[in-house]
Amino acid sequence: MLNIGCHLSSSKGFEAMGKEALKIGANTFQFFTRNPRGSKAKKIDPKDVEALIELMKKNEFATILAHAPYTVNACSADESTRAFAIEIMADDLERMEYLPNSFYNFHPGSHVNQGAEAGIEYIINLLNTILKPEQKTKILLETMSGKGTEVGRSFEELKQILSGVALSDRMGICLDTCHVYDAGYDIVNDLDGVLEDFDRIIGLEKLYAIHLNDSKNPFESHKDRHEKIGEGHMGKEVFFKIINHPKLKDIPFFLETPNELSGYAEEIKMLRDAYKY
Ligand code: FE
Ligand code: FE
Ligand code: ZN
Repeated sequence: MLNIGCHLSSSKGFEAMGKEALKIGANTFQFFTRNPRGSKAKKIDPKDVEALIELMKKNEFATILAHAPYTVNACSADESTRAFAIEIMADDLERMEYLPNSFYNFHPGSHVNQGAEAGIEYIINLLNTILKPEQKTKILLETMSGKGTEVGRSFEELKQILSGVALSDRMGICLDTCHVYDAGYDIVNDLDGVLEDFDRIIGLEKLYAIHLNDSKNPFESHKDRHEKIGEGHMGKEVFFKIINHPKLKDIPFFLETPNELSGYAEEIKMLRDAYKY
């Protein structure tokens, strides 16, 4: 079965997201751990989480994916911004233990003017501070488009981060199709070549999740603006190739396209219909 879902609003709670996922034909989903702009997280209701876990078991859900807020910048030159990132992410990971064996994805951040090397050191330091051996969550670094001074624009940068983390077996990668295309990895014309690069530099066994997004901008634009599947510069075909690729077919896929629920339902149906396994 194709494991696919989309980004859902967490405002109505955990079980509500599970029900919403079922309604649109999804068997997984992504959600923000708190308001995407940061702020305080809602208190977790253990009963609500239990209900979601029950629903997921009954309906054979794939692993779900939590997304860190956009406001955390683990590699800021400003010490208080980095301290804030550590505080928020450590708190998120503690809360994630209510949903054991899920994924927690975050953007490596922007180094602004200090250079990628300094930024990468800060990210490694953050991860070595917040990762605990007993944690059951897999932490994923997202591949970035290279907008501004974003870190994580290349497989080499991501590998460098992974290599510096003591508990790197708790880490993995979430590949965002719009981001890698905007970053200059031509998955439209050479998916196999890009996957070979990924495998050589990072290792495909580190790829745990894929964000499926078309791009509003052309190849290598370093922009990061998502488009509906098939309506952007990437076109539909590459998405059919990705979900059916023998090395990717079992990975959970998450849509972050500009859609309401009905639009997500249509994209999920289109991709399920195109799935050959
Ligand atoms: Fe993201
Ligand atoms: Fe993404
Ligand atoms: Zn994006």
